[in-house]
Amino acid sequence: MNFANRMNDLGNENAFKVLAEVLELRAQGKKIMSFCIGEPDFNTPENIKQRAIKALNENQTHYTGSAGLTPIRESVANYINKLRGTNYKAENVVITPGGKGIIFLAVMALVNEGEEVIYPNPGYPIYESAIDFFKCKRVPLPMLEEKGFSFDVNELISKINNKTKLIILNSPQNPTGGVIPKEDLKKLAEFIKDKEIYVLSDEVYCRIFYEGEYTSIASFPGMQEKTIILDSMSKTFAMCGWRAGFSVSNKEIAAKFTDLATNLFANTTTFTQFAMKEAFEGPQEDVEKMVQEFKKRRDLIVKLLNEVPGIKCHKPIGAFYAFPNVTGAVKALGFRNAGDLQQYLLHKAGVAVLTRGHFGAKNPGETQEYIRLSYATSQEEIKKGLQKIKEAVENKALADEFKKERGI
Ligand code: PLP
Repeated sequence: MNFANRMNDLGNENAFKVLAEVLELRAQGKKIMSFCIGEPDFNTPENIKQRAIKALNENQTHYTGSAGLTPIRESVANYINKLRGTNYKAENVVITPGGKGIIFLAVMALVNEGEEVIYPNPGYPIYESAIDFFKCKRVPLPMLEEKGFSFDVNELISKINNKTKLIILNSPQNPTGGVIPKEDLKKLAEFIKDKEIYVLSDEVYCRIFYEGEYTSIASFPGMQEKTIILDSMSKTFAMCGWRAGFSVSNKEIAAKFTDLATNLFANTTTFTQFAMKEAFEGPQEDVEKMVQEFKKRRDLIVKLLNEVPGIKCHKPIGAFYAFPNVTGAVKALGFRNAGDLQQYLLHKAGVAVLTRGHFGAKNPGETQEYIRLSYATSQEEIKKGLQKIKEAVENKALADEFKKERGI
């Protein structure tokens, strides 16, 4: 079939390829433990589910305006303002079917062909996909282990020029769990506040945050107008399958996003919007409990990873991902890269992880190897999985056998 040329530029989440491999191995009867999943293993809190059921029974099943119902948008604005000290109103909010689509909306609405987008690398793969699809120029910004997997703010500023249109930030970050320090956000805000540059601030992990105080770039003077906050119900309220997210931006951008929504999907499911309001305004204990449990798992997985020879794991401050440096293990086992280690762990230890390569190509001069483990799984599973990883990494003979099989 002859598809339109632009389809050649559409990226993907390569992580789904690993998922397919895991499913295939399981179908063959193999037991595979997965640390790949980017979704809380908790269920949506009961009060939120009940509110959706009530809304359904009240026949909240009709179209709404494309940006969502005004009282729900007001509720989103209040929720956002509470954590960030901003002053957004309903008119700034567009409710979307999941947060992900806001990446395409932002690039589509703001960036012309050939204009530049700065984005985190390693980073969430949809950023690169959107940049490529709209023929914009990729400007990857290295996330640095020595900076706790944030970036060097001076390096970011050095990448800004008169072609820069959009800067994508993601804090806490996928895949590293890194958080951007407040002083770096402040410095960046001061540098761009009078320029025709916008920030897409991907804040989907803003409440899965373990130490210190969460800061959004939208909180700095002049930045409320320049920032598009991308947030979602998926991670915070364990609502991945509901497909409910929201953008918060200046009024002009919100109006363009609304026009795009009208063209693409009309509104987010009506009864889901009612459940969103309940999530924001109802009891928050379930969120707090989930975050406390993630914190315990983080401590456990970091400790266990650091007990594996050749693996060094920095303690992430947010999200539910560990991003250990596995260079020592890769070298000790005679592998070429983290990709070989990932395949070895999958096929010989029955443990599925992702690699740095699933989150973008290496930056120039990048020499270290990393894998990503999601700890959205029980402490029991973490202990078992890490034991298997440790045994496999310590088993040089097994690695040699694997290399022979694969011709490595
Ligand atoms: N942004 C980041 C950094 C993510 O990791 C994800 C999901 O994994 C999303 C956005 C999209 O989430 P959703 O579309 O479920 O709201």
